[in-house]
Amino acid sequence: MSADRRQASDHLERLLRQHTQEELLARLTPRTGEPSTKVPGGSHLSDDAVERRWQLLPDAAASREQLLDAHTVHQKDCYKHNIENFIGTVKVPVGLAGPLRVNGLFAQGDYYVPLATTEAALIASYSRGCQLLSEAGGCTAVLLNEGVSRAPGFAFASLREVGLFVLWATEHIDDFRREAEATTRHGKLRDLRITVEGNYVFLNFAFTTGDASGQNMVTLATEAICDYIERNSPIHARHHFVEANLSGDKKASAQSFLLVRGKKVSAEATLPAELIAKRLHTTPERMAQFWRMSAMGGVLSGTMGLHGHCANGLAALYLACGQDVACVAESAVGVTRFEVLDDSALYASVTLPNVMVGTVGGGTGLPSQRACLEILGLAGPGKAQALAEVCAGLCLAGELSISGAICSGDFSRAHRLLARGKATKTNEEPPAAAAEQK
Ligand code: NAP
Repeated sequence: MSADRRQASDHLERLLRQHTQEELLARLTPRTGEPSTKVPGGSHLSDDAVERRWQLLPDAAASREQLLDAHTVHQKDCYKHNIENFIGTVKVPVGLAGPLRVNGLFAQGDYYVPLATTEAALIASYSRGCQLLSEAGGCTAVLLNEGVSRAPGFAFASLREVGLFVLWATEHIDDFRREAEATTRHGKLRDLRITVEGNYVFLNFAFTTGDASGQNMVTLATEAICDYIERNSPIHARHHFVEANLSGDKKASAQSFLLVRGKKVSAEATLPAELIAKRLHTTPERMAQFWRMSAMGGVLSGTMGLHGHCANGLAALYLACGQDVACVAESAVGVTRFEVLDDSALYASVTLPNVMVGTVGGGTGLPSQRACLEILGLAGPGKAQALAEVCAGLCLAGELSISGAICSGDFSRAHRLLARGKATKTNEEPPAAAAEQK
C-alpha cells in the first residue's frame, strides 16, 4: 500500500498541473445537497419498475437498446431471484475450449468447456492446453475434500466468560447440528473449529452442501445456530455477528489455502517430450526450468499459492456456468508443479483447495448459464463434484499452455495477433495458440 517518494511526488505534480490545491480540496469535501433519486422498484422486474429505472438515465437510449434487447425483455422474469434494480443484461461472448479429457473420480470423458470472456487469446490458450492433455490420454483429477464454512464471532466480557462459553459450545454440537439441518435438506454440519482471540470467540462451522456451492445455505444454517446460542447459552455474548470474516469467503487467505473452502481438487498428467515439442514447441526441461523460476518469482512477490493464471480459466468458466464469479478470489489460490521424469517426460499437476462451484442454486438455473452446464453435461443434481474436477483439469490445461507459450516465445506473439488483430512481424510464423485454431 506504500509508494516511494518519487512516485508520490510525480503523482501530486500531475494533479497540481491540472487543478489548484484549493480546487482539489473542494472536490474532496462532502456535499450536503439532496442525493440524486434512488433507484426505484427494488427487486421487482415488472415492465413498470424497469421503465422507471431507465427514466433515471434520460440520455442513455443507446445503452438501453444494448442492455434491454427483445430477448432480455422476453425472459426477464427468470432473473427474479438473482438480481435487484434490474435494467437488462450484458452480453459476454462464450467460446469452447477442448476437448478436455478428464479421468476423474466423478468427471469422466471428453469435455467441451464453455468459457465466457472478453479477453482475446484466453480460449485459444486454454483450448490448446486441453487438446494437449487429451492427446496425452487425459488428466487424472481427484476431489480430495469438501467443506464450506460460516464463522460467526461472539464478544464476551472476559477470557473467563470465553472459557465458559467454549466449554458449553463444545458440548452442544449435536444441538447445533439439529438447528442447522432443520433449515436445509442438503446442508450437513460436518465440523466446528474454535478460535479464541482475547475476549472474542469465532466459531467456524464447516458444512457439506450437496450440489450447491452453498454460501446462502451455510448462512441460513449458521443463523439458526446463532439464534439457538442466543436463546440457550448460559453465558451471554455482549454482541455477535453471523459472519465475522474468518470463513475466507471471497478472498485469498492462508487459512483456506491450508484447509478447504468449497472443494479441494487436484489434477495431474504425464506428457511425453515429443508431445510437448509438437504442441508447445518447447521441451520438458525448459518447462521445468520456467516453473522453478516462476515459483521463485511467486515467492518473492508474496503470492498465496504458486501458479500462473488459474484465475483466467476459473473466471471464464464461472461466468459461463452461473457460478459466483467473486469466489474466484479464493478459488484461484492453488499450486502448480512441473517436474521432468526419468524418461524425460513432463509431470504436471495443479491443486486447488478452494473451488467454490455448484450445479444447483445460485445462478446455475438461469437460461444461458444452465445451457453452458448442459454443454458440459453437468447441469443439476449429482454433478457438482465432477464440475470441480473439470475445473482442476481446465486449470492444468491453462498452466501448461501459458508456460509453453512463454518457453517458446509464443506468449507475446499470440496476444499481438489475437488481441490487437495485428499480423505478426514479417517472416514470423503465426503463434502456436492461434495456429491451433485454424
Ligand atoms: P441457493 O440457491 O441459495 O441454495 C440452493 C438451493 O437448492 C437450496 O434451496 C437447496 O435446498 C436446493 N437444492 C435442491 N437440490 C439440491 C442438491 N442436490 N444439493 C444442494 N442443494 C439443493 O444456493 P447456495 O449455493 O446456497 O448459495 C449460492 C449463492 O449464494 C451464490 O449465488 C452466491 O453468490 C450467493 N452468496 C450468498 C452469500 C450469503 O451469505 N448470503 C454470500 C456469498 C454468496 P435445501 O437448502 O433444502 O437443501
